Amino acid sequence: MTRQEILLQNWHHVKDLIAASARRAPRKTQPVTLLAVTKYAADEDVLALLQSGVLTDIGESRVQQAWARWQENPAFATFSQVKKHFIGHLQKNKAAKAAQLFDYIDSLDNFETARVLSAHIPAGKLIRGLVQVKLTDKQTQSGLPLPQARVLARQLRGAFDNLDVCGYMAVAPQGAPCETLHRLFKEVYQAFETDFKGVAQAQLSLGMSEDFTIAVEEGSTLPRIGSLLFS
Ligand SMILES: *Cc1c(COP(=O)(O)O)cnc(C)c1O
Repeated sequence: MTRQEILLQNWHHVKDLIAASARRAPRKTQPVTLLAVTKYAADEDVLALLQSGVLTDIGESRVQQAWARWQENPAFATFSQVKKHFIGHLQKNKAAKAAQLFDYIDSLDNFETARVLSAHIPAGKLIRGLVQVKLTDKQTQSGLPLPQARVLARQLRGAFDNLDVCGYMAVAPQGAPCETLHRLFKEVYQAFETDFKGVAQAQLSLGMSEDFTIAVEEGSTLPRIGSLLFS
């Protein structure tokens, strides 16, 4: 098999698992979009998937690296319609660049950075944002504990015309038992259901390579998959 065939096989494998998990979900949710996390992937691998036409949404966690790839590398220029999500910790001094490059900022965790981001969004552009919920006590993990994340979401909704906050993103603790993952994802889902009821384009981004089947069962609409796709 060629590298492109392997990558496509990975893609369809993950898509099948997502579809199966969505069928097991007790509640009917919106369609699930596979967010391909390209942060560790080689340019050639990302290009192979772009050329096969399956990628609709990609995620990057470093502004500089994403800029070099998606803004400066001519090979990527023909794929500008792919929706670019920022999933890393957004520093205030990178917000201006992020505002130009990204369509989604999935990791909002403070009002001030959102304000700076909004101030730098080019005229006529709308960025969608998710508030990042923190599910561990770890100092190094970004995001806000759920109660504070809900407060921030309420503050940001309608605060800026060019920044539409439409859901939550969360990273689960690594290696947690399945029951814990179900419980944590369920808590975020319930908050999402309450806080974003009736919001067009609402998104709940839960799940990574290790835990996305559980996340989709619990209502994730935007699982973020890196290593499973690109290994
Ligand atoms: C890297 C990353 C992912 C993808 O992780 P994999 O385990 O490689 O699927 C998802 N979400 C965030 C926030 C990340 O930083």
